[in-house]
Amino acid sequence: MKVLYVCAELYPFLKTGGLADVSAGLAPALKDLGCEVRLLLPAFPAITNVAHTLRPVAPLPKGASPWGPSPALPPADVVLATLPDLDMAVYLVRAPALYARPGNPYLGPDGKDWSDNAQRFCALGWTAATLGQGLDPDWVPDVIHGHDWHVGLAPAYVRAFAEAGCDTPATVFTIHNLAYQGLFPSPLFPTLGLPANFFSITGLEYFGQVSFMKAALQYADRITTVSPGYAREILTATHGFGLDGLLRERAPALSGILNGVDYQVWSPATDPLLPRTYDVNTLSDKAAAKHTLQTRFGLEPRADALVFGVVSRLTEQKGLHLLPQVMAELVRHGGQLAVLGQGDAVLEQAFADAAIHYPQQVGVCIGYDETSAHTVLAGADVILVPSAFEPCGLTQLYGLRYGTLPLVRRVGGLADTVVDCALENLDAQTATGFVFEELSAKGLLSALQRAFALARRPHEWRAVQQHGMSLRFDWQTAARHYLALYRSLRPHANSFTGPHSGSSGDAHQPDFSV
Ligand code: ADP
Repeated sequence: MKVLYVCAELYPFLKTGGLADVSAGLAPALKDLGCEVRLLLPAFPAITNVAHTLRPVAPLPKGASPWGPSPALPPADVVLATLPDLDMAVYLVRAPALYARPGNPYLGPDGKDWSDNAQRFCALGWTAATLGQGLDPDWVPDVIHGHDWHVGLAPAYVRAFAEAGCDTPATVFTIHNLAYQGLFPSPLFPTLGLPANFFSITGLEYFGQVSFMKAALQYADRITTVSPGYAREILTATHGFGLDGLLRERAPALSGILNGVDYQVWSPATDPLLPRTYDVNTLSDKAAAKHTLQTRFGLEPRADALVFGVVSRLTEQKGLHLLPQVMAELVRHGGQLAVLGQGDAVLEQAFADAAIHYPQQVGVCIGYDETSAHTVLAGADVILVPSAFEPCGLTQLYGLRYGTLPLVRRVGGLADTVVDCALENLDAQTATGFVFEELSAKGLLSALQRAFALARRPHEWRAVQQHGMSLRFDWQTAARHYLALYRSLRPHANSFTGPHSGSSGDAHQPDFSV
């Protein structure tokens, strides 16, 4: 089974959030199951700076497609490359005019979307589809698996090829966050090189705009999202971001597959970023991480203070606007708060103000820092994820592994992965954290109070930590579900293909000008 895994981020090279962790975890897990996986990424500087080119593949096709014009793009080509410590080949779309910009892959230095994001990610989708047409005759995918709106046009191009009578791979599209949809003004549509009838309500038109996300939801053979809970929620008006109607139509093709954790990166027993490693049997050694956290975040180094941690993008989605509202109570109960994050300027300011107001109890680090993320995940007693919505969430899973109890809102993947410390769950030894319902300061406060109450029962706290640490959310399980999905689409593709076996390149040669 040849799978082309298409994404815009890949840990540790380029990461803005969980998407990068998923790519780094899922693609190798699929490979371990016998899939022949190759990645396709834009040649962002963070990637090209470390990539080793194996061979050029081809220029990106321009000119006519079987149905008319192809996308209007600056010169681009595709190379096959390797990346350090990554045991799989990577296709890179090289288009310096589009990608040779350092930093965040989506935003300019002013924090705003790059004005040519439509072309930048059109090129990614187009490359995926043309690889599906044999752009690299040595390797033609059976399945193109795209991730988030950045790859939304890939299923649309594949559909256009299929409607033009070409042999095409199957397409799978994973929604990591429905809130980001890749919406662009309609005059852009003709530059995308899609059949004219695709700009319609049954295509990728969304209230007069072009929607890359809708393109994928309309044209992908299968749609997945990153937890079963979120798969149900996006069918509702509350969580569907205007696409719930379409998603309900496509419900037979939609499923939720829970993300996993890369335990090679996220395990307190082996984590090189911790002052002292620990495991389920040496939990008292977690105190060293707590001390480091308190020192690094300027908190009073009190072993008995209950430390709450945040590692997050600071956006409305994450529900963190509730935290300043409960700060006084948190501090009054003797708690401390360490916040690592960046994003919304108002939230950044609110946390900076709190740190000034409570200098010994609240520490804030505005920015993105991998080492500090590990320090918070290991050093805090409780990791806070009070999200308004959460497709899966990874930080609560990391918290579980580090004996740092997650405090979460009952939504999406958080609801799927954390069991509240209600008495009956403590009794049944299934509790792993604190879960609240209502997206309000009152709701959050109720969970904080339960955390303080449990902290006064150290034996029970320890039992909850140990249970959480024993759970496994591994990528192998998720990968098995994805493989089953691929097999349902391509039952005759061989799971154990060698590098040059399987589909014949000739049969898939592009039949348009290159
Ligand atoms: P999302 O993808 O919505 O941002 P997830 O919980 O799925 O949320 O994934 C977030 C990932 O980003 C985790 O690996 C988390 O550790 C990391 N992360 C978030 N903010 C920061 C930060 N400021 N510094 C370092 N890592 C961060």
